[in-house]
Amino acid sequence: MSQRILEPGQIETLAQRSIPRIRLPARESLFVQRAARLRALAPTSRIADYLHLCAAIADAQHAALAGCAPTMPSAAELAAAREHRMPPIPATDWPRKPPWRNALETICTAVAAQPGFPPEVARLAERVAAAAAAQLEAQADVLLGTREGAVDAAAAPLLVAALQVHGVAASSRLAAGEVAPLDVPGVCPLCGSLPVASVVRAQAQYQGYRYLHCALCACEWHLVRVQCSQCGASGKDIAYRSLSGEDDADDAPADAALRAETCDACHRYRKILYQEKDTAIEPVADDLASLALDLLLADAGYARASGNPLLWAADEA
Ligand SMILES: [Zn+2]
Ligand SMILES: [Zn+2]
Repeated sequence: MSQRILEPGQIETLAQRSIPRIRLPARESLFVQRAARLRALAPTSRIADYLHLCAAIADAQHAALAGCAPTMPSAAELAAAREHRMPPIPATDWPRKPPWRNALETICTAVAAQPGFPPEVARLAERVAAAAAAQLEAQADVLLGTREGAVDAAAAPLLVAALQVHGVAASSRLAAGEVAPLDVPGVCPLCGSLPVASVVRAQAQYQGYRYLHCALCACEWHLVRVQCSQCGASGKDIAYRSLSGEDDADDAPADAALRAETCDACHRYRKILYQEKDTAIEPVADDLASLALDLLLADAGYARASGNPLLWAADEA
């Protein structure tokens, strides 16, 4: 046996060379797939009505995306962001008007016209559509964390939906090579927002690799498996739980296509989805539909590392 032994650092370097570090969303399919997944998950969910509403919002997001032309960074700005390892389109201070408010109007109009929901839904959409511009901008700043203030929890899903359209309109216009990983693994390298969940992808070039999925712009970035995406802890601190029971090994997942990756160093968790177990998984939809797992984790003493932006009321409660 004369195998050459590689040091851990060398193994990491070799492995990282071939791993696609960034995955960007496809404009033509992201919200279409999200809407379809929400509708598929609704019948077995305790929050079926809310999932159907989010599906209607996702349909409206897809329609709004077609007309959303955000300000884009120049080639020089992109190069500078890569060099300084900064997000090139930071959601907190990137110019967003008027495109995001146009998207908000499209979403509110579509949701207000949707049949089959309680009258409060249309009233809410009309209230948001009629709100003063300054008020909407202030709420957007609160939602993005750049301004102190109370979240309007009822209106938040609509505003976040418009911010997502604006984020995806930008992220889907870039090429993966234009975005570089950051030194902080738990933050979106494109817009600086937090991830909603992580996904182990199954498509050929991404197979077996784990990506964090940005809650805002849907950019995905690579993170090694069995590592806390919040504090960086690994090894014995990391465990996995699903609704069907407790599992230990990440490389031998049980049948569950969705589990929580818990960390005993920071007592937080994020969900992890396995595309090989279910090709239709969609991070935002599957996270919303698995609230029961959040309740289980809360009982076990773990806090969510970051929320689902379409569920402010529950996260703020
Ligand atoms: Zn992002
Ligand atoms: Zn941790």
